[in-house]
Amino acid sequence: MGIQNRIIRGVGMLMLAAGLPLTSLAQTNAPVDPGNAAVKKMWESWNAPFKPFRIINNVYYVGATGVSSFLITTPEGHILIDTGFESTVPRIRASVAQLGFRPEDIKIILSSHAHLDHTGGHALMKQLTGAKVMISKADADLLASGGTKDYTPYAPKMMAYSPVKADRILVDEEKVSLGKTTLTCHLTPGHTKGCTTWTMDTTEAGKVYHVLFFGSTSVLSDVKLVNNPKYPNIAEDYLHSYQKLKTLQCDVFLAPHGSFFGLSEKAEKLAQGGKTNPFIDSESYRNFIQKAENTFLEQLAQERAKASRALGN
Ligand SMILES: [Zn+2]
Repeated sequence: MGIQNRIIRGVGMLMLAAGLPLTSLAQTNAPVDPGNAAVKKMWESWNAPFKPFRIINNVYYVGATGVSSFLITTPEGHILIDTGFESTVPRIRASVAQLGFRPEDIKIILSSHAHLDHTGGHALMKQLTGAKVMISKADADLLASGGTKDYTPYAPKMMAYSPVKADRILVDEEKVSLGKTTLTCHLTPGHTKGCTTWTMDTTEAGKVYHVLFFGSTSVLSDVKLVNNPKYPNIAEDYLHSYQKLKTLQCDVFLAPHGSFFGLSEKAEKLAQGGKTNPFIDSESYRNFIQKAENTFLEQLAQERAKASRALGN
């Protein structure tokens, strides 16, 4: 297998993870070399700085261009959702400071899911702030393995990061509170076995808004939904997660990659001023989930048909 193919494959996987279009990429099952220049270049582009800003009330964007981090401030300290790659951590800290908050006041670190581009910075951020890492059981195991126990064909090599032991294990629908702000943990497994969607209510101009931090439902390339020995109930988990995601209330749709929720366009609109906050947009959430579910169901149907043909039915 040529090195070029492996590079292309790796970049393809990352593009899929970010929700970017994947075209004319070589189809191989070769393992990816994490040291290769193309992948590094891709990650660097995701890590490009993004001007931090207030999304709504006490919710701020402090992530990089391609990987999100959200800061939820309270008078008793702050909550951070996702830390990006380890190399994103200095950017997040700079963004927090730029907004007038102290990075060392981050008390709780939460996650969308334990992949290297969202929890790769947990170890360093915890070390720098002393914050408590709270995460679902399945993703706590993945986090403790430094991403190497991921079920996708890209583990262990490509998914590896500095491991962290969780301070608190969360169960489905458990609440995490700090300074009168409460977030609810909704387990939405599939993309990782402990993938989590977070919700919270916040008030702006006297109105209550439901803010939703989506965990991800992307199916990485080369991941099988049928007959997957590393994750036998993967299809059921995804199906269940889509059912749950459709019941959650969402006025403000946020996600681990900016491309999922129109970060750049909405941030630009917000900066221009105007009467309405562009992030208050429940339709974008419903549309995103519906489109993602359709793509998922299509893949599932194809794989099931293929498996059934193989059995001679
Ligand atoms: Zn991921």
